Amino acid sequence: MHQLTLAEIARGLADKKFSSEELTKVLLARIAQLDPQLNSFISLTEDLALTQAKAADARRANGESGALLGAPIAHKDLFCTQGIRTSCGSKMLDNFKAPYDATVVAKLAAAGAVTLGKTNMDEFAMGSANESSYYGAVKNPWNLEHVPGGSSGGSAAAVAARLLPAATGTDTGGSIRQPAALTNLTGLKPTYGRVSRWGMIAYASSLDQGGPMARTAEDCAIMLQGMAGFDPNDSTSIDEPVPDYSASLNGSLQGLRIGVPKEYFSAGLDPRIAELIHNSVKELEKLGAVIKEISLPNMQHAIPAYYVIAPAEASSNLSRFDGVRFGYRCEDPKNLEDLYKRSRGEGFGPEVQRRIMVGAYALSAGYYDAYYLKAQKIRRLIKNDFMAAFNEVDIILGPTTPNPAWKLGAKNSDPVAAYLEDVYTITANLAGLPGLSMPAGFVDGLPVGVQLLAPYFQEGRLLNVAHQYQLNTDWHTRTPTGF
Ligand code: GLN
Repeated sequence: MHQLTLAEIARGLADKKFSSEELTKVLLARIAQLDPQLNSFISLTEDLALTQAKAADARRANGESGALLGAPIAHKDLFCTQGIRTSCGSKMLDNFKAPYDATVVAKLAAAGAVTLGKTNMDEFAMGSANESSYYGAVKNPWNLEHVPGGSSGGSAAAVAARLLPAATGTDTGGSIRQPAALTNLTGLKPTYGRVSRWGMIAYASSLDQGGPMARTAEDCAIMLQGMAGFDPNDSTSIDEPVPDYSASLNGSLQGLRIGVPKEYFSAGLDPRIAELIHNSVKELEKLGAVIKEISLPNMQHAIPAYYVIAPAEASSNLSRFDGVRFGYRCEDPKNLEDLYKRSRGEGFGPEVQRRIMVGAYALSAGYYDAYYLKAQKIRRLIKNDFMAAFNEVDIILGPTTPNPAWKLGAKNSDPVAAYLEDVYTITANLAGLPGLSMPAGFVDGLPVGVQLLAPYFQEGRLLNVAHQYQLNTDWHTRTPTGF
């Protein structure tokens, strides 16, 4: 049963082959048995899951239907869940029970999804390896000595190991697409504003976006349907109608113009990944797509711009964790200043502290123009590059990451080496564009992802291209040994 996709589960539930309660019990037992190897969960919510599963079964018995009704999922532990620990992977929030549900959590629950637990993540979503969590590193089910990617590494490892069919993630600079690539999943970062950020603990507010992680594009469509939509509680949420994403999966790729940026194939890319990307291009050509070389000339400036803007916003967002209102408070503070300093010094881990310092520096009076303002100008140039490219093509295709999953600890002594792994993903966040990563093959037994980018609000196009590809390839069906 654990091999079923969301779409197959929906059919099985509709045909009364099994109940949501039965399925939930199977998966909870599987998590108890296998997750100790992976560490993909921070909290399990067994009681809630069984209550939700029974309620979903009752709704089905009353004639209700729906692709998510009774479907087991999990949430990255930065989505607020009422009465349940919402830690953000940090000691700072280890004792924090959210007083309300994030909009994404509430919407998926209303659609009948069953929450099995909260998944592990890099502390405050900062990282690409899921090693900065206060709750310990997450292991990649494809090779337990390797990282699963980050920051949504817990969601990725859990879904890849078939502990559950789908989970939520968030993507500020690649944190849905990169771990999806490194664990052989399909992951979608929607257009900025498509999915509400209300109750999603902020890392960098102008870049953060929640989205689905699953094994197939078909399942991402089901999840996105449950997550997307206007939310008056999020002033950056956009009031655009939500299309039927599952219905968009049947389009022909005949004549689809795919742009492949020449800058993507530079020296930093593992040549074995380059070959797999070229293979995926050939596959799409067979389906009727037309390939065109394009240029994104400002791409080289994306990492420096991102690693100014994201820490700047983080330093501001994380100022609310002061030891006074909620979260960790140090023992025996001597005075108010001591309380602030020690609560933050003891509550935040080293990567978070590094980002706060970089961000506060970039925003400080003497340096704002030199760093933050400059980075914002680069951001506009990057967006302009994409706008020009999308005048010529319908989709942009390339690798999701320059390398496959690295060994645990391999980049710990050099934060910049990890930042460079984000080179292909962060431009979509800087421009606010939707992006998807899907399985495209293996290097040394480790999964490789191909990334697709589309114009604003063309999530349906991304999902359709990925679905057509998945109808004609079987990379996404491979299961890691031992799971
Ligand atoms: N690796 C990037 C960072 O550390 C992206 C993280 C994310 O998307 N949340 O900032």
